[in-house]
Amino acid sequence: MTELQKVLTDIRIQHDEVMGDMAKKLGILHGLMSDIQLERKPLDDTLLHKLQVAYNLDDATMKRVTEARDNAIDNIRDGENDDTGFTALKLFNAIPENLKWGESAIVDCPICHASKSVTVARSEFNGHVWIHCKDCKRNLIQ
Ligand SMILES: [Zn+2]
Repeated sequence: MTELQKVLTDIRIQHDEVMGDMAKKLGILHGLMSDIQLERKPLDDTLLHKLQVAYNLDDATMKRVTEARDNAIDNIRDGENDDTGFTALKLFNAIPENLKWGESAIVDCPICHASKSVTVARSEFNGHVWIHCKDCKRNLIQ
């Protein structure tokens, strides 16, 4: 369980609520609430403020939520739990600018930072790019 999940669960227990209740109070979909808890999507400042108001959080709880939130954002940026958003963008940025159709290149991994572990190949048929890191096993097909 992530730290953010723990603290949000504690708040719900105190209010005798389930995840759907909290999502409703924050005005977001259940799925987004779930992604936030799993550190796939960030709990942004607007939602953090809504949470504080909706549950009248005291300073200690607010500090706990904010720390867990900041830590979650770091994890999202590092691509720890997300293989679509930030991770894909980082891999995408690893594509050499001048890579021609039918060419491939070996580059450092922007996610796990392994040296020369990523193969970037551009198809000679349709120009689509295939990216694979042999170290962290992350893939991206453009
Ligand atoms: Zn990697």
